[in-house]
Amino acid sequence: MARDKKLIIGNWKMNLNVHEASLYLNKLEKTVKSHRNVEVVLAPTLLAIQTLSLQVNLRQFKLAAQNFYWRDYGAFTGEVSAAQLRGVVNYGLIGHSERRHIFHENDKDTRAKVQAAIRNDITPVLCIGETAAERAAGEMVDILHDQLIGGLANITSEEASDIVIAYEPVWAIGTGDNATTSDVLAASRAIRAQLKHLFGAKVSQEARILYGGSVTAESAASYLSLAGVDGLLIGGASLDAVAFSDIIEKAFESDKK
Ligand code: PEP
Repeated sequence: MARDKKLIIGNWKMNLNVHEASLYLNKLEKTVKSHRNVEVVLAPTLLAIQTLSLQVNLRQFKLAAQNFYWRDYGAFTGEVSAAQLRGVVNYGLIGHSERRHIFHENDKDTRAKVQAAIRNDITPVLCIGETAAERAAGEMVDILHDQLIGGLANITSEEASDIVIAYEPVWAIGTGDNATTSDVLAASRAIRAQLKHLFGAKVSQEARILYGGSVTAESAASYLSLAGVDGLLIGGASLDAVAFSDIIEKAFESDKK
């Protein structure tokens, strides 16, 4: 997928039941204008994925899984695999900070999930970012380096060119303490440098990089105007249809500039 479209992903986390998710999609369909140059992706609870996949207008919205297990089938009680999500979602979030920090997922897990997504035709959105303590210790670039290598070690350059990397500093998620544009610029440069080192210049130029962390309708435009930043991963503000459609509109406007 080329970088000519801005990518806006709404992560609903563990909010909205199936009925609410369906009503919300209905509302969003009416509120959000479709723009050729903006790709909008919704990540509802897995429980609502099937319902929404039958309801959604794919020219307006795509779907993403917030999480999945890396094995395709088998005795893994309570899990849902990328193989089961094949054809239902276009994207899969991997390594979200809540998965890493609450559910103790590590680079080995993210690596296996990136491979599972790719083998099941799901575009991986690998989330990486440093904690407040790591940032205070000046380790941001090292953490991004380690999480990128950890997540992407086993894929080819061809597979890597379609990947999405979301820079999501842990201290900015759900805190209201969003990163500055210079933080995001520095992170996106570090990510592209590392992608170049791992996969070559073409992948480094083609991979899409998003910022996520307390983005609001007010702050969205400043990130969307940054060269090298291809879109946003939105948590809290995606639950507000008006705020979310404002952010999508900002993405459309940023593209016209
Ligand atoms: C997220 O969950 O990925 C996120 C960025 O959340 P929020 O926008 O609420 O900080």
